[in-house]
Amino acid sequence: MSNLFYQAQGRKPTLDQSRGVYMWDQDGKRYLDGSSGAMVCNIGHSNENVLTAMRRQMEKSTFGYRLHFETEASEHLATKLANLMPEGLNKVFFVSGGSEAVETGLKLARQYAVTTGQGSRWKVISRAPGYHGCSLGALAVTGYAPLTAPFEPMMRQMPKIPAPRAYLDGLDADDPATGLHYADMLEQKILAEGPDSVLAFLVEPVGGASTGALVPPRGYMERIREICTRHGVLLIMDEVMTGAGRTGKFLGSDHWLARPDIVVMSKGLGAGYMPLGAMIADDRLVAPVLDQGGFAHGFTYAGNPLACAAGLAVVNEIEMQGLCANAAEQGDRLLARLNGLMQKYELIGDVRGKGLLTAFEFMADRNSKAPLPAGLNAHQRFVDIAYAKGLIVYSRRTRDGTHGDHILVCPPLIVSDAHMDEIVEGLDASLAQFSHEIYT
Ligand code: PLP
Repeated sequence: MSNLFYQAQGRKPTLDQSRGVYMWDQDGKRYLDGSSGAMVCNIGHSNENVLTAMRRQMEKSTFGYRLHFETEASEHLATKLANLMPEGLNKVFFVSGGSEAVETGLKLARQYAVTTGQGSRWKVISRAPGYHGCSLGALAVTGYAPLTAPFEPMMRQMPKIPAPRAYLDGLDADDPATGLHYADMLEQKILAEGPDSVLAFLVEPVGGASTGALVPPRGYMERIREICTRHGVLLIMDEVMTGAGRTGKFLGSDHWLARPDIVVMSKGLGAGYMPLGAMIADDRLVAPVLDQGGFAHGFTYAGNPLACAAGLAVVNEIEMQGLCANAAEQGDRLLARLNGLMQKYELIGDVRGKGLLTAFEFMADRNSKAPLPAGLNAHQRFVDIAYAKGLIVYSRRTRDGTHGDHILVCPPLIVSDAHMDEIVEGLDASLAQFSHEIYT
């Protein structure tokens, strides 16, 4: 009987060890980590260079409180990240995870507004479905009812606009009119709320678990930037999942001309070696806050030297191994092969993604886009089938959170052609079993 509790699901096998794209449980069964954990382990498991950097840091010091000491590790990682950001985004605040990074971005935006005579601005518009974390502030900007509903009385729900799911609305994502259609919903929302009350727009450049790798339609991101600038609204990119090379560029938003004012990162930055997140802000936002007494924020573990040493080694690996380029190349191959599986299996209704943030969605009928019945719990059943075959994938209910199922296939960015063959074979076998179960 375990003293741990996370979810209602039953106990999982106990992890023994992990190397590269593989993990082994204590019975010796091998799994291919086709979801990088929760889209975390971007450089694969047990990378020797990262372990060496961590050992070196551990031997020197594992903790130095940020109000007592600067540390080389956090200084170097901050410089490294600033160099990888769009110009001007050069102020870095470290935290220990994605929700903390989101909270930090929201609070910096608010304090910037307060210190620059824009105290009327406090609303943060975001999208539904959308996911930004599980702390109460991050939940307020999360558009995903199953996670927010029980906590409604304890938080202040922020305004939402629909995520641009052109495939469900029967619109062509390559038609620039589609991008404008969805982006203009932001402007309508800003006008309806009152532009002077709107602080920021928070967006995942490529959707994560809530929309299943939703890629914005053509022109959407550029238009969003233009609308934010016009109304003095800050653009915050939630790169918690898309950052650190996952989509084929260091930041997901690097694919478009939509320069953020604030970037929040986590997952692939610590890559599973240490809990680590970062908020990176435009100098112009940070300067007035520092001038007027400093940022009223900070977690005890912020800038932990061991986490930063791991993060620095992770980013070095991404660069040295050319992992952004590999994610782009292998991602194109994976999309092509998922499209092949869609030809073969009726129940796949859509395939989408960028780089190695890719997904397919189950539908009962491709024409009507009707989801599989909620009672099938299709996404979980599929994950269980694949898991039994030694392939780990990630899944969620989409749409309004009560029905519609997507499967995220997001292996570490180090995947080779042979790994990709193994992933696709595992998916094919799992789809065959799942189709058989539901159609016979
Ligand atoms: N933002 C996005 C886009 C995420 O995908 C997640 C986690 O899945 C978070 C924020 C929250 O990150 P964490 O679970 O590390 O708090």
